[in-house]
Amino acid sequence: QLPYDDLTSALHDTAAQRAEMKSNKAVAHWFRWDLRLADNTGLYRAAESAKSHGLPLICLYIFSHQDFEAHCTSPARIDFCLRTLQVLKDDLAKLDIPLWVEEVTDRKRMQSHIIDWCDKWGVNELHANMLYEVDELRRDAKLVREGVKKDLSFTVHHDTCVVEPMVLRSGAGKTYSVFTPFFKSWEPYLYRNKCVQDLFPPPGKNDPKYNTEETFKELFSQAAFPTPNAGKQLEQKVAQRLKKLWPAGEHEARSRLRRFLEERVSKYVDTRNRPDNDSGTSGLSVHFAAGTLSARQAVRACMDHNKAKTLDSGHHGWIREICFRDFYKQILAANPHVCMNKAYHEEYHNVTWEYNEEHFQRWVEGKTGYPIVDAAMRQLATNKYMHNRCRMIVASFLCKDLLLDWRKGENYFMSQLIDGDFASNNAGWQFCSSSGTDAQPYFRIFNPLTQSEKFDPDGEYIRRWIPELSKLEGKAIHDPAGRLSPAEFKKLGYPEPIVEHKAARERALERYKTGLGKN
Ligand code: FAD
Repeated sequence: QLPYDDLTSALHDTAAQRAEMKSNKAVAHWFRWDLRLADNTGLYRAAESAKSHGLPLICLYIFSHQDFEAHCTSPARIDFCLRTLQVLKDDLAKLDIPLWVEEVTDRKRMQSHIIDWCDKWGVNELHANMLYEVDELRRDAKLVREGVKKDLSFTVHHDTCVVEPMVLRSGAGKTYSVFTPFFKSWEPYLYRNKCVQDLFPPPGKNDPKYNTEETFKELFSQAAFPTPNAGKQLEQKVAQRLKKLWPAGEHEARSRLRRFLEERVSKYVDTRNRPDNDSGTSGLSVHFAAGTLSARQAVRACMDHNKAKTLDSGHHGWIREICFRDFYKQILAANPHVCMNKAYHEEYHNVTWEYNEEHFQRWVEGKTGYPIVDAAMRQLATNKYMHNRCRMIVASFLCKDLLLDWRKGENYFMSQLIDGDFASNNAGWQFCSSSGTDAQPYFRIFNPLTQSEKFDPDGEYIRRWIPELSKLEGKAIHDPAGRLSPAEFKKLGYPEPIVEHKAARERALERYKTGLGKN
């Protein structure tokens, strides 16, 4: 049985028992990657229930260092999460709602820890939003069942997607495995079911009669959050820079969305593939990943901003990208094996990879000798973000040109990205390694030189990230080793290409063909 179906069954089977449970002191919401007050399904349901039972609402966030390790969560993402929690705590305090942040050292004890916490604060009704990774689905299903035995009603809501996973089915009743038909089904469903029509308001203020400050004094008085990932935190200088680059919290998310819609969305289709244009895309992925912005809020705002009856290409194109996010969450829910280091198309297991640690390190450090690849890897190391076109170029380069296992790249991305999201990252890597949902077979191999000329035509992106090449003009910026004399090239202090693309391409085609032939 799929872990997703098991959780759905657990919720269904316990529904009647859970409905009978009444909190005696408070109703609680457990925040995970949904760090916002507005349009938060679980939080809204918890607040509504609290109001109808005449009880206060209290909130909880628990992190586990082991969870972060298991998902290779980057220090930048953890830092963003902590900064967001501070915004959230301040906003909740204005509503007389406490937010308690806690660390669980042994993640196997998460359930019992939550049950104890609820017991301590007189909570018999706990709400959260669903996470679709296997471990998280299993943990939630267990807590739903365990909770019932311990008089705790734990309800998990669909929230992160515009259209909840597993709902859209092909004519044969199967979940979709290719994006285009998924989108063709997603878009009309969205309108038909008014998925973004009624967004949930933030919770109201706790009634003063509950005297929450006194009753939950300990929860309000938490002076500082525990700091996860001891020893792996960002250097202060880096943390300060990232704070400026990626301000946290839902207010920032909404104002970034507003700015994007007002200034740039209408040109999105022309600018989205250009890494040399810093504002060609929204830069909102960090907010979607942390849950400081809901996908529904984004789609709704985009539709409202489009004044004409039908969406223009920019607005439509951007909503289509948001649909990619839904698609990959649904791939995850329907295919739990992708959470277990397995290829989505399992026949790709038999590709034999190279094990060349030096090549991997040179890829990581941005020293492959391919300027577009190196610029992108240096952007990732510095800004903890990389443009989508470049993510595809560097991923293809790792799996095809270097023939290194895509899982190494997947993990490295997660360990760096501030917007790291398992579903999108895994799917992005599987797409580029041809083991995923790409409708094209393994012959799709990006040529880093032509990609560079096409998407960074003036070499501005490369110049920004590779100071060694900053003085180069014309086509030499894309291919210095191929276009300069050996003496000119040597002067640059830039590495020679670690592989020759044409030969590497042939090797990859052969290796994939042989791997697939073994099935
Ligand atoms: P915009 O162009 O403004 O798009 C708006 C939103 O649509 C994004 O914020 C994102 O939520 C969604 N979106 C856009 N493109 C994609 C896509 N291809 N797949 C899924 N969602 C998409 N995205 C992540 O959020 N986290 C990741 O860890 C991640 N890893 C990736 C790894 C690889 C190898 C590849 C090829 C792609 C990955 N992506 C990931 C998808 C994409 O690169 C980023 O979502 C995008 O670059 C974010 O920038 P933006 O917010 O300016 O995007």
